[in-house]
Amino acid sequence: MKVTILGAGVAGLSCGIALRQRGIEVDIFERATSPTTIGAGVVLWPNATLVLEQLGLLQRFKARSGAPTHMRRISSSGANLGCLDIGIIDKQIGSPSLSISRMSLIDVLFHAFTQAGGHVHFAHQVVEIQPMTDTAGTRIRFHSGLVLVPEIIIGAEGRMNSPSRRYVLGENKPVFQKFINWVGMLERDQCDIDDKVIFDFWGVGARFGIVPLSSQSAYWAAGITAEAIGANKPEQYRDEILATFKHWPEPVLSMIQGTPSHKTNKIYVHDHDPIQTWHKDNVILVGDAAHAPLPTSGQGACQAIEDAWHIAEQLSQSTGRPQEAFESFTDIRRTRTANITLAGRQFAKTVFNDDPEFCHTRDEASKSSDFDNLAKTMANGWRNPFRRHARDEDSDPR
Ligand SMILES: Cc1cc2nc3c(=O)[nH]c(=O)nc-3n(C[C@H](O)[C@H](O)[C@H](O)COP(=O)(O)OP(=O)(O)OC[C@H]3O[C@@H](n4cnc5c(N)ncnc54)[C@H](O)[C@@H]3O)c2cc1C
Repeated sequence: MKVTILGAGVAGLSCGIALRQRGIEVDIFERATSPTTIGAGVVLWPNATLVLEQLGLLQRFKARSGAPTHMRRISSSGANLGCLDIGIIDKQIGSPSLSISRMSLIDVLFHAFTQAGGHVHFAHQVVEIQPMTDTAGTRIRFHSGLVLVPEIIIGAEGRMNSPSRRYVLGENKPVFQKFINWVGMLERDQCDIDDKVIFDFWGVGARFGIVPLSSQSAYWAAGITAEAIGANKPEQYRDEILATFKHWPEPVLSMIQGTPSHKTNKIYVHDHDPIQTWHKDNVILVGDAAHAPLPTSGQGACQAIEDAWHIAEQLSQSTGRPQEAFESFTDIRRTRTANITLAGRQFAKTVFNDDPEFCHTRDEASKSSDFDNLAKTMANGWRNPFRRHARDEDSDPR
């Protein structure tokens, strides 16, 4: 069996590793000229680190990651809205939560894939996938003029413009969810960042999150509601962010001011409506191309990593046509990822609500919330169905 993966992001590289580990031949084609590092960072929640452990990569990730233990929720006026003990989620699922820069995430995956004997063909932008007219199968047309006729295609080109998704569904229409995120990466000479605490500041129609990677680095996301997609002018990003967040409690201001503009990005946040059909002919979708959830779900990269495990399992076990493996993969993944997408939308409606009265009631409710119970609910929602060897629930996953 030979698999061609389109896109060397989180999903594509993770699929590549899982397939190579099962002895399957894999090539990845990526439009960028080198491993992509766009975006600040992600939290790999325990459902994802459990997969990384099964892939034999957990120690490598731990060496490059932060390990936040708590998430503090604070109002834009500085009121304490509660604190989530991440250790409860880790313990319930039996694996650690790790915070990692996107650069390190891609770097670890890329090297693991090449060490496993895989090859990434950079500077290969897919333009179109077409059905063959004279025989079964599909052909991929690249921007360079190259044409390939692969045995199996895994479409992992992300959420915004996936030729594989267009082939499977006839369209690729991400939904703008009416908020903007500026994301930034702060690096300091001195060790003065609290590396154990994620900060989640809530305002009216605005949110500021800070995720530590170490005592010297953190990434942050500044979100506001927005009716329409506008311009991206990097020289204006800092002023745009300060217009909303200038008077928010520390360390918000020092994060914004300490981050150089070339380490700041602006994203008009889109997701995808959940879909029923993930495959057509010899093409299967994974990662954001199949089920892009909002960042408010905290699960986009985590679900891409879960996909990798399952598609590799199904393909390596299949004895017949790949479509049977595609069907069982979709059956395993469809409901879980749809629920995560819908939960992300629901949470976005709460955190990006711009009605002051709603936000006051929301914040008061947060103050009296049972955060330990919330952590257990999150763990139940994210728990991996494939966990085969349960750990001792009392053991410390770190
Ligand atoms: C602000 C923000 C915060 C987030 N925080 C988290 C978090 O804390 N936890 C979490 O789990 N997730 C998080 N996510 C989501 C996560 O980043 C994505 O869900 C994840 O990267 C999806 O992986 P992917 O491989 O499907 O897509 P991507 O990582 O986008 O990779 C797609 C790849 O395909 C390539 N490509 C695209 N088009 C083509 C083409 N035509 N031909 C060839 N190659 C192509 C791209 O260059 C890219 O390398 C966050 C997202 C955002 C925006």
